[in-house]
Amino acid sequence: MSDKIAVVTGSGKGIGRAIAERFARAGASVVVCDIDQTAAQSVAESINASGGTAVGFKVDVSNKASVEALVAASLEHFGRVDVVCNNAGVLDDFTPLGAVTDELWQRIIGINLTGTFMVSRAFLPGMLEQGSGTFVNLASMAGLVAQAGGLAYTASKHGVIGLTKQVSADYGQAGIRANAICPGAIETDLSRSFLQDAPEVMAVVESVPAGRQGRPEEIAEMALYLASDESSFVHGASMVIDGGWTIR
Ligand code: NAD
Repeated sequence: MSDKIAVVTGSGKGIGRAIAERFARAGASVVVCDIDQTAAQSVAESINASGGTAVGFKVDVSNKASVEALVAASLEHFGRVDVVCNNAGVLDDFTPLGAVTDELWQRIIGINLTGTFMVSRAFLPGMLEQGSGTFVNLASMAGLVAQAGGLAYTASKHGVIGLTKQVSADYGQAGIRANAICPGAIETDLSRSFLQDAPEVMAVVESVPAGRQGRPEEIAEMALYLASDESSFVHGASMVIDGGWTIR
């Protein structure tokens, strides 16, 4: 990853943080960006303190002006962007159709799906100009099956997989690859928010073949593979890392 510039959205904590740190350890220069500016800056500082190269910016991926500002700041700071990891995402607390308010729908789709669309569209022109670039999109096993999220979350993650395939189909021959990662239950604040009050769901999580939740670092290894030239023949794929959840 040396000489590569990577942007990781939602990298102030959780899976995004682990991905930003893994990219940096592999030699990439990283734009750590999050709606929580303090968290983004603190992750960037920690990467720099460990000998890596990173800068921390604020971004709200669901806001077009904020996304455009991120692109401008990234290009001004590093001159180019090779990898965009669309990781920022929010959960809907397993809300079924009948209980989904307009606000919940707009928030989940706005961040998870429209955010991935807007960030990808905004970084595309630079990639087309340089004739290369890679998108790594955080979908979920909820992008493949039902009952791994609520209505809006599941719809948003199925959408991320469709978006990833279409970007791949449209721009693969222009040197641009897009792939998705479908994690199962991973130990982060996002999963803690629903598992702590739901022992019955925790029992399901622990009944997977792996017998446990995954760690953010395990997802970061797949993100590194997809971001790097090691995966040069992988286009439009949805890579499942779920401890075996979806085989059942
Ligand atoms: P997390 O809640 O630990 O971290 C998400 C980060 O995204 C936070 O730092 C948050 O501030 C940031 N964020 C939220 N809204 C944002 C916005 N509008 N703009 C920019 N940043 C924003 O979550 P996580 O578990 O690390 O999840 C990361 C991704 O992985 C998400 O897309 C999630 O859907 C996906 N995922 C997670 C799990 C899991 O079990 N943890 C499973 C499958 C998929």
